[in-house]
Amino acid sequence: MIYARIKSCKKLDDGSVIRSPSGSTVTAETKKIENIDGVTYIDGVIIANKTYSLPEDFGDGLDSEALEAFEIMSSDAAEEDLWMEIISGFRSYYTQAVTYQSFCNDRGTEEADRVSARPGHSEHQTGLAMDINSTWFTFADTAEGKWLKQNCWKYGFIIRYPEGKEDITGYQYESWHIRYVGRELAKTLHESGETLEEYFGIDSVYRE
Ligand SMILES: [Zn+2]
Repeated sequence: MIYARIKSCKKLDDGSVIRSPSGSTVTAETKKIENIDGVTYIDGVIIANKTYSLPEDFGDGLDSEALEAFEIMSSDAAEEDLWMEIISGFRSYYTQAVTYQSFCNDRGTEEADRVSARPGHSEHQTGLAMDINSTWFTFADTAEGKWLKQNCWKYGFIIRYPEGKEDITGYQYESWHIRYVGRELAKTLHESGETLEEYFGIDSVYRE
C-alpha cells in the first residue's frame, strides 16, 4: 500500500483549520491514496481517469448499490413525468478498447482523447458510472438533463465531467455521465462545486 499526502490538502501539523483561497473554511485532513491490486483508491473512493487506470480484468458489471440508487432516483424523477434510462453502464476493458479505437479512426487520437477514454482509463469500467438517456450535447437542455444536474447529488451521484472543468477532468462537458460516489461525498462536492480531481488534489493526464 502507498500512503501519500496530496499537495492540495489543507493539513496543518497541529490539526487546525485554514482558509482556502476562495475564503471558505476547510477542516484539516490528510487523504490516503491506496493502490490495491492495481486499482487506485483515495479515502476508499475508486479513481479511474487519465492518470489512474484499472487492470484489464477489473470489473464485471454495475455496482449494485449504484444501480439501486439509480432506480430510486429514476422512480422519483418519473413522479415528475421525467423518464431516465441507463444507455451505458459497465464497460469492460475490451469493450472500451473497441470504442476508443473507433473514435480514433473517425476523429483522430487528439479528439478521441477529449471524448473517450483509453482502455483501462474509463470510469465505466469501475461499475460506478452511467450514461443517461443520450450522449448528445442537447441532453443538457432537456427536462431530464436539467433535473439530473440539480438533483443527482441527493442520490449519491455527481456530474463527473462538468462544464468549464475540461482542463481538470480531461474531458469535455458530459451532462449525461454520472458517477456514483455515495450521498455524503456527492453532497460535499455539490456544495463545493469541485470535481473529484479538485477534491482529492489529483490530475487527469495521460503520462505515456
Ligand atoms: Zn459515460
